Amino acid sequence: MSTNNKVLIIVFIMLSILSVATVTNVWINFIDFGKRAAVDRAYSIAESVRDGLTSHMNLGAMDKRDLFLSNMIKHQNVKTLRVIRSKKVIEEFGDGGLDPYKYDDIEKDVLSHGKAITNIINEEREQFLRITIPYIATKYSKPNCLSCHVNEKEGDVLGAITLELDISEVKNKTVDTILKIILISFVFLILAFFVTGYIIKPYVKLFDALEEGIDKAYKGDFSYYVQTNLSDEAGKVAKKLNDLSEIFRFKKTIELDYDKEKIYERIKHILESNLELENFIIFENNITTKKRKIVLKSSKLTFINDEELENSTQVCRAFRTNFQVVSTDFHNICDLCAMKNRESICLPFTISDELSLTLLIYVANDEELIKAKELIPIISNYFELAEPVLQTKLLMNKLHEKSLKDPMTSLLNRRFLEQYIDDGIKSGENFSVMMVDIDFFKQVNDTYGHDVGDEVIRTLSDVLRNNIKGSDLAIRYGGEEFLLIVFDTSNEVAAKIANHINSEFSKKVFKVGEETFSKTLSIGISSYIENSISPWQAIKHADVALYNAKNSGRNKVVIFEAQMYQESMI
Ligand code: GH3
Ligand code: MG
Ligand code: MG
Repeated sequence: MSTNNKVLIIVFIMLSILSVATVTNVWINFIDFGKRAAVDRAYSIAESVRDGLTSHMNLGAMDKRDLFLSNMIKHQNVKTLRVIRSKKVIEEFGDGGLDPYKYDDIEKDVLSHGKAITNIINEEREQFLRITIPYIATKYSKPNCLSCHVNEKEGDVLGAITLELDISEVKNKTVDTILKIILISFVFLILAFFVTGYIIKPYVKLFDALEEGIDKAYKGDFSYYVQTNLSDEAGKVAKKLNDLSEIFRFKKTIELDYDKEKIYERIKHILESNLELENFIIFENNITTKKRKIVLKSSKLTFINDEELENSTQVCRAFRTNFQVVSTDFHNICDLCAMKNRESICLPFTISDELSLTLLIYVANDEELIKAKELIPIISNYFELAEPVLQTKLLMNKLHEKSLKDPMTSLLNRRFLEQYIDDGIKSGENFSVMMVDIDFFKQVNDTYGHDVGDEVIRTLSDVLRNNIKGSDLAIRYGGEEFLLIVFDTSNEVAAKIANHINSEFSKKVFKVGEETFSKTLSIGISSYIENSISPWQAIKHADVALYNAKNSGRNKVVIFEAQMYQESMI
């Protein structure tokens, strides 16, 4: 049975019990009230009859006694009215026209103990209250009983009156009232049933959805989304469960992501779409080099200057203290991120010994600040889940980078070149290839030893590194052969760079003991777009140009020409 039906049945049972209790209460009270009213009336009639008969007696009009009694029956709506005398009174004053020995059992009892007896008589359609009330002798009544009943004493039973009063009307009114109550209760029950159903339905639905969602989550499936229109505490519970599901889905997704950039992209999506943050930046802080750079910006953020914010980690208060920094906590708490008309929150997240992240959120007003502060725990959850995955990715990156770097010179190695070319050169992208070789290098090894040769190779590596742009590539191609890939240049510009490199390198003076020496370079140049149909062919052509440089005297830069290829084949 659904929870909704269960709740409705409970409401139904409770309201039914309440209705029955109300009806019972009304029934008992009405019956009691009707009976008491009838008894009061009976006493009143009894007193009137007693006083009436006494008056008749005093006036000597006892022959009118029956008329008086029949009038009483008529006017008081009494079914039975019978007056009896006690034995003593009969003995003293006669039976007064009554058969003294026709007392019924109740009357006998009343005459003997002097207490009224009341009974309810139910007939087919009518109901009567039968009451037998004793007349007790007392000198305090007016007229004084004992003034005539001289043989009696105070408290003696002089006689009794038996009355049967019709109380059917009370009964009918009671039934009528109860029927009305039952009708009202029924209408109320139906109304309560629907109103309750309407109010509790969304809660019950939410409860069922939560049960299903938690059940699935328990089995490791966090794809469930609890839908509800409720915005109160129950709605907040649903939102929290959805947030949890979202967090776990996020974790499962990022575990299979290829690199950390993809993970940053997902964090950006969550901050923008799920948490509705508009202006934020994520910095990557290199703990070793103490440099920080922006790795992510929200799409709507336009008012910052990247260069101003990309600087030393040491100026970042959140990084230094590893505590969140909120600009409203103290005047000018952090000059670096201070922004006119905006407040900021900086949250630090340590990822590894080498890397930490800082999330900087800008808000436009107090309302947004409160909202952003409320989001801190959930944001922290996302970053904490991302932490081990980012750590793994960083380690993988490091291993991968290591495998693509030459350990002696820290330049890229041949494996990198192969992967780089295999990954595909973008169409339209132009670059020049320079093949660099040290002239008569073997002599260095032969004359001064292998260590000195290594020193020369490392020196050349530094020269190459220092003379190319950030996007250009310096690769150790072979033992003392290097390859430079210089983007977006003509062969002529590449030749200028090459000549500059040769001149820089040849100025280096190597000292071995008392001796010194310098070395020169031969460099062959080829353009990918101008001379070749593939990157590998461009490299081959640069090699051919280098061969030409070696053969034509060394210490020079030669740009590839088609006929050189034929010459090299000879
Ligand atoms: P040239 O290029 O001008 O024709 O003459 P070369 O003497 O430089 O001739 P070649 O290019 O054939 O010599 C390369 C030498 O470089 C051979 C090899 O022993 C040496 N070599 C290769 N790798 C290393 C290295 O890592 N360290 C040292 N010290 N020597 C290396
Ligand atoms: Mg050489
Ligand atoms: Mg060589």
